[in-house]
Amino acid sequence: MLWNVDRTLVDVTIVLRDAYAAAFREVTGRPLVRLAPARGRPDSEVIFETLALNGVVAEDDHLPAFTEALARAFADRRDRIAAQGRAMPGAREALAAVARLEGTVQSVLTGTIRSNAVLMLGAFGLTEAGGGSDVPGGMRTTAVLDGDEWVINGTKAFITNSGTAITGVIAVAAITGTRPGPDGPRPEISTILVPSGTPGLTVSRKYSKVGWNASDTRELSFTDCRVPAANLLGERGRGYAQFLQILDEGRIAIAAVAVGLAQGCVDESLAYAKQRRAFGHAIGEYQAIQFKIADMAARAHTARLAYYHAAAKMLAGEPFKKEAAMAKLVASNAAMDNARDATQIFGGYGFMNEYPVGRFYRDAKILEIGEGTSEVQRMLIARELGLPALC
Ligand SMILES: Cc1cc2nc3c(=O)[nH]c(=O)nc-3n(C[C@H](O)[C@H](O)[C@H](O)COP(=O)(O)OP(=O)(O)OC[C@H]3O[C@@H](n4cnc5c(N)ncnc54)[C@H](O)[C@@H]3O)c2cc1C
Repeated sequence: MLWNVDRTLVDVTIVLRDAYAAAFREVTGRPLVRLAPARGRPDSEVIFETLALNGVVAEDDHLPAFTEALARAFADRRDRIAAQGRAMPGAREALAAVARLEGTVQSVLTGTIRSNAVLMLGAFGLTEAGGGSDVPGGMRTTAVLDGDEWVINGTKAFITNSGTAITGVIAVAAITGTRPGPDGPRPEISTILVPSGTPGLTVSRKYSKVGWNASDTRELSFTDCRVPAANLLGERGRGYAQFLQILDEGRIAIAAVAVGLAQGCVDESLAYAKQRRAFGHAIGEYQAIQFKIADMAARAHTARLAYYHAAAKMLAGEPFKKEAAMAKLVASNAAMDNARDATQIFGGYGFMNEYPVGRFYRDAKILEIGEGTSEVQRMLIARELGLPALC
């Protein structure tokens, strides 16, 4: 079962790999590094790791052009939206995931899709300034039905893909009422689709981030922002469940990105340790360096197995919440540890931006935060193991 994941993903990954490579070359003028399958490595692994090794998407200044080039590559493919989501694992695949969840999104968005000559990006608006881990507790955004329109008020924080030139829609989680719960009334959360440019939606400037600079992350505010009642995604009150399901899948994607980063650290360190000399020897001859690289390789390998296992369960239609949380936890940890060790192996050069390990170092940390922090993953795993939930 474990290895079926490669066969199931193969169509998506081959198409994506080719389109991605062409778009990358068109925009940057150079080939995508480490793209070709090597020594029998499966395509799914190669594509995910390639994405991570090249930055989340491409280099910062290339983002709009790159996205458009990629979009063109998919322009006449029916799966272009899903593929685009997959192409930007760190930047979320809200639209694709939501579309898969409900199947209704296409009709709501048809106008937006058609009006966009090439493609659009979707954003996933769950987090608010008051709390990303405690989502129902920290949520303040409301949507009230007024005739045949939703009127949305509130603010969302850290929303990826929300302000690009081709952002088409934001899936916004909002409180739409209350429902009876075991401990009294609890918020009813629904997902409402807000097309970009809707009056009342304000998209703030991009955050200045430590890493993941290629992705577009912004604060959004909604002031009496009106959208048609039909923009409710799926069933009213199912919003939280929808987002939780997306997050379970997203954790596997983040784990895959983390494995790519962790493996990139191994590859770069190995090459550098063979050529960098100190005290008359290549530093790779010293056991201290060898042990570091051996540990790094072991971390990348075990993290890879963890995300393969979670992905295989997901694709087989089996419950995978625990495995996704475990994969995300260990893989992001591996990425962070490997980035620290690789930077150390590179010495002063590791701290320079022109070497990839410097970017690995900056980009690793978000993997322990986004899509649920490491603490949240531990909470989920503990719950899945039957331990009581305090919150
Ligand atoms: C670059 C970037 C992109 C993002 N993109 C998106 C996006 O597209 N859409 C979106 O909706 N969100 C997005 N996020 C938000 C992200 O999901 C949240 O930042 C994350 O879930 C953590 O929430 P928080 O920042 O509010 O931290 P908090 O929830 O305030 O947590 C602070 C600390 O407390 C810990 N903590 C909280 N509760 C507990 C507990 N019960 N036990 C132990 N420790 C606890 C956390 O683990 C963390 O260490 C993005 C964030 C970043 C940085």
